[in-house]
Amino acid sequence: MPLVNMKKMLIDAVDGGYAVGAFNILDYNSMRAVIDCAKELNAPVIVQTSVKTVKLWGQKAMASWARELCDSCAVPVALHLDHCTDVDYVAQCIDHGWSSVMIDASAQSFETNLEWTTRVVGMAKPHNISVEAELGAIVGVEDDIFVQERDAHLADPDLSEQFCQAVDIDCFAPAIGTAHGIYKGEPVIAYDLIESITKRTRIPLALHGGTGLSDEVFKKCIALGCAKINISTQLKHVFIDSFVEYVRDHSTEYNPLKPLASQYDALKQNIAEKIILFGSAGKAGQEKM
Ligand SMILES: [Zn+2]
Repeated sequence: MPLVNMKKMLIDAVDGGYAVGAFNILDYNSMRAVIDCAKELNAPVIVQTSVKTVKLWGQKAMASWARELCDSCAVPVALHLDHCTDVDYVAQCIDHGWSSVMIDASAQSFETNLEWTTRVVGMAKPHNISVEAELGAIVGVEDDIFVQERDAHLADPDLSEQFCQAVDIDCFAPAIGTAHGIYKGEPVIAYDLIESITKRTRIPLALHGGTGLSDEVFKKCIALGCAKINISTQLKHVFIDSFVEYVRDHSTEYNPLKPLASQYDALKQNIAEKIILFGSAGKAGQEKM
């Protein structure tokens, strides 16, 4: 099937009490691992691309990989642009075929954030493309966005409600205590804040900074309304470690396809564990396209 946006898959996830995994890919091999894994598990899935990764390969190439991989696939796949801080770049990705985009104007004032998000929604909706926006500041490094702990702040429930009433977004990413990168200590998740934002916005929430959270934390966040869970850092580690370990263990072998195959298998295994944990395995059949 063609690429789909993430609106319906996230509403279905909220209704069904599960979450859809949004996996950050790095190249064709990792994109293939995500989509093949979703196919095998009959799960809806979000292929997530950071702006830096898109700039490396080019929009045309990445969109064509995704289209080609989805053509032969019966599960719903969204191609989503992660944390884009540039409205013009979002427009270019929409032109090239992304089915979903995130505008991250969380570093701007509330008014500017709302204004940029409204512009993106205006560009995206006529093309049936879903939009995610962020409020508050999620600590850590994501792409070129660096938020220090002292600058991080959680989303305010009043402002969250105001924001989501003012603009028609499909997924909302409030800062609720998770962090990008690797956790240094036990993360303090503001569960009460997730609950209150879910009740007041009625929009599926995105959980950023999924790497390193315990199974229990994931389950609790899903039960409170997190319908999209981002996994990025973990896959970066698996991507490098699996390749390096294969080469280290087969140091006389110079067949590049073998470490690539090993990398693909390792990524797929990690992605499968998350899809099963999030409860989205077997849920693709429930999608009515
Ligand atoms: Zn993020």
